Amino acid sequence: MKAPPFRYARPQTLDAALRLLADEGAGARLIAGGQSLVPALNMRLLEPTLLIDINGLAELTGIAETASGIRVGALTRHAALGASAIVARRTPLLAAAVPFIAHEAIRNRGTFGGSLAQADPAAELPACAVALGARLEIAGPGGRRRVAAHDFFRGVYETALGRDEILVAAEIPAQPGATLFLELARRQGDYAIAGLAGWAALDRSRITDARLVFFGTDIRAVEARAASAALATSLDAAATALDRDLAPVADLNASAAMKRHLARVLLRRACAAAVTHAA
Ligand SMILES: Cc1cc2nc3c(=O)[nH]c(=O)nc-3n(C[C@H](O)[C@H](O)[C@H](O)COP(=O)(O)OP(=O)(O)OC[C@H]3O[C@@H](n4cnc5c(N)ncnc54)[C@H](O)[C@@H]3O)c2cc1C
Repeated sequence: MKAPPFRYARPQTLDAALRLLADEGAGARLIAGGQSLVPALNMRLLEPTLLIDINGLAELTGIAETASGIRVGALTRHAALGASAIVARRTPLLAAAVPFIAHEAIRNRGTFGGSLAQADPAAELPACAVALGARLEIAGPGGRRRVAAHDFFRGVYETALGRDEILVAAEIPAQPGATLFLELARRQGDYAIAGLAGWAALDRSRITDARLVFFGTDIRAVEARAASAALATSLDAAATALDRDLAPVADLNASAAMKRHLARVLLRRACAAAVTHAA
């Protein structure tokens, strides 16, 4: 199918983009990489009256090292994230996740901000943002506000972003431990049936602190706090505690019970690998 008709604007400043959003109201849609939006238009799942192309907004670009970690502009392409030496050094979890996002052509166009704003529960980058404790900078008609990634994702394709707001950047603290990243998908590059993004701090072969975030299982990326705390006891205890963290939802790929099982498998594999590596 072809996209429905729409008007198109390419503002050059954030203020101009915000004005266009406010003036057009409910019919306006931002377009970044277009890798989720264009398929939705072509399938006529959306019928915007105005597409606002944000690719000209210089303020949304770039990856910079900060005192506490990194700042990633919303327009950063997945491929740039994966190739960045700053990302590899400060937040290696993001670098580990990128190769699992779709395939090269999509990674060359798709953006970090687009992935967060899309909030697909099976997407890799929202889970990484939660695992790393990212704070998201959002611009709107009333000025700027910051929202913790943990509070940003609300449900399937649902976020804390208002209709008249633009995600500008993410401030991400430096990763405090070893990378934990695993996902199970039907084919390399497909969305995850179940995935785990996180980090673990180790003292020799003992996990002393960890953050585990599961994606593809629930209606959004879920931080598994009970399982993380139980890791201090044993892997078995953590796998059992995971039941208190997750409320898996069946989809075309797997039942809720299967997703729960896969999440336990991922937890055991990722943590065992981190311990073996440390030893
Ligand atoms: C075949 C295929 C396979 C894919 N596989 C995966 C996968 O395995 N894992 C994965 O994570 N993703 C996957 N994707 C999606 C891809 O990662 C997209 O790039 C990403 O989800 C959206 O980024 P985008 O820049 O393309 O956003 P767009 O498609 O341009 O926009 C997506 C949504 O976000 C909004 N938006 C975009 N930028 C902003 C902003 N700065 N502020 C506010 N709202 C904004 C748009 O209005 C729109 O509603 C796949 C896509 C395709 C086509």
